[in-house]
Amino acid sequence: MNTTPMSPAARRRRRILLPLVFLALAVIAAFAVQQSLAVASAPSSASISGAGALGEVTEADGAIRDGGQPSVFDDASPAVEGLRPDLLAALRSAATDARADGVEFWVNSGWRSQALQAQLLREAVVTYGSEEEAARWVAKPETSSHVTGEAVDIGPLRALDWLAQHGANYGLCQTYSNESWHYELRPEAIEAGCPQSYADPTEDPRLQ
Ligand SMILES: [Zn+2]
Repeated sequence: MNTTPMSPAARRRRRILLPLVFLALAVIAAFAVQQSLAVASAPSSASISGAGALGEVTEADGAIRDGGQPSVFDDASPAVEGLRPDLLAALRSAATDARADGVEFWVNSGWRSQALQAQLLREAVVTYGSEEEAARWVAKPETSSHVTGEAVDIGPLRALDWLAQHGANYGLCQTYSNESWHYELRPEAIEAGCPQSYADPTEDPRLQ
């Protein structure tokens, strides 16, 4: 065992070095906490659309992976093929005309199984911190218009711009003001224009 007492110079060095080491550790820890909070609090449309952590659900449930978004013409995609035929026909008609304008439609989310909808709701509660806030973005499996194949989430931004201008001509209307990507079929819109959108899903009487 080394019992040699420290020289005064060595003790001075330690008095200066130790606080510096603690300061450095504190800075690193604070940075790590800030990074993890930044990731946790960033709401991403990916997790809303089912392209986040998929857990036990699969593409057969209508899940779509990031970067794997199908077009509205993709018959092999359960998320597309599960949409109601009248909605799908309107989407394909609009997408055909949009393509002539150089605009492509992606399906970020379409038909979803109840299992996928339930998982999205669980993820939203984690993302938004409460069931009340999550309800502003994600419907319950029993009431979701995605589960019945009556709603589609379209991307990218250029497609949304195109739909905002021309969607009503095909009966395609944005349902919620806070979801510029969520479209449903309103055949009467071809004559009368789209109805006023709800501020968010909590105002939708169908979801009560
Ligand atoms: Zn939607």
